[in-house]
Amino acid sequence: MELLEKRILKDGTVLPGNILKVGSFLNHQLDVDLLDAMGAEFARLYQNQKITKILTIEASGIAIACFAARYFKLDNNCSVPVVFAKKNKTNNVNSDVYSTQIQSFTHGKTYDVIISKQFLNAKDRVLIIDDFLANGCALQGLIKLVQDAGATVVGAGIAIEKGFQNGGQLIRSQGTRLESLAIIESMTENSISFRH
Ligand code: 5GP
Repeated sequence: MELLEKRILKDGTVLPGNILKVGSFLNHQLDVDLLDAMGAEFARLYQNQKITKILTIEASGIAIACFAARYFKLDNNCSVPVVFAKKNKTNNVNSDVYSTQIQSFTHGKTYDVIISKQFLNAKDRVLIIDDFLANGCALQGLIKLVQDAGATVVGAGIAIEKGFQNGGQLIRSQGTRLESLAIIESMTENSISFRH
């Protein structure tokens, strides 16, 4: 998506450890016009897929998922609900939730993420949305939560995939449809190039 690529080139900064910082439009301050355009693009990519729910993970995925949801309509013409997996703060995981463990790329820690069983069921057709794809740990965790609920993963929509890390290949080789709005081929402190 050209608009996103241009914005990454304009405002993204590359930090040590292969981290792209996009706090001025995606991870801290939010450019809602850009988010809206991204939501529309996800809807174009996944049109006619009968999606009933969008699943993401707190925090940065939520805004993207909400803008996308506005473009996906249920049979009653309401927007599809957004459900976000929560990073569990306590040690007790109870039977009312689906849970899995995810290793954070940016913080290195492993944490439990949970979704209440109330909000995901076997009839759901789920689009998973997240801000970044690096090694695929977050996305795999979200896929597992959907599968645990007996629901269908229609596909995943990622804002920025770092194509030089192995998450994209891993997820695609497992047969999950994966659409990334910008795929970074390589990045250094001075230059960022995209895959087309
Ligand atoms: P993965 O689980 O695929 O290794 O990493 C994906 C998660 O880590 C995303 O949810 C995102 O929050 C975070 N992440 C990974 N790489 C980056 C990055 O380069 N920049 C930022 N801001 N977050 C990242």
